[in-house]
Amino acid sequence: MDIMDEVFQSAKQAFGFASQKTGEAIEIGKLQLKVTQAQAEIRKLYEQIGSMIYLSRKNGSDPSTMVDSLVHQIDRLSAEIDAVQARIQQLRQLIKCTRCGAQNAKDALYCSRCGAPLKAAPAEPEPETVSEPAAEAPDATENQPQ
Ligand SMILES: [Zn+2]
Repeated sequence: MDIMDEVFQSAKQAFGFASQKTGEAIEIGKLQLKVTQAQAEIRKLYEQIGSMIYLSRKNGSDPSTMVDSLVHQIDRLSAEIDAVQARIQQLRQLIKCTRCGAQNAKDALYCSRCGAPLKAAPAEPEPETVSEPAAEAPDATENQPQ
């Protein structure tokens, strides 16, 4: 009985921890879907440009206006893809503070808002604090008249 309770408790804890991570994973998944859809859209536009040029060759018409508009749409979609990919990068780079929920850089050791340690067990020993040289040498005391 006790063992089952323990298993249940640890499963609950594991789930609680996982669900936080899942939230971000879902958002990244959604963004990646957006990128895939935009890329498919761009492929369709390329196709349209191709058929537009083909038809104009056949009919002797001028496709410039239509092609320009399609090119513009492709540019817009490309910019959108860039923005979404930047956002995905951002999400991957950030880790959430388990105490206050603030987003911190991936390599941060402590939360920038509340100062809580962001990694349960830091693999590296505490970084040596660079000892700053004394800001101002006490010159005044050395130049005492004898
Ligand atoms: Zn925090």
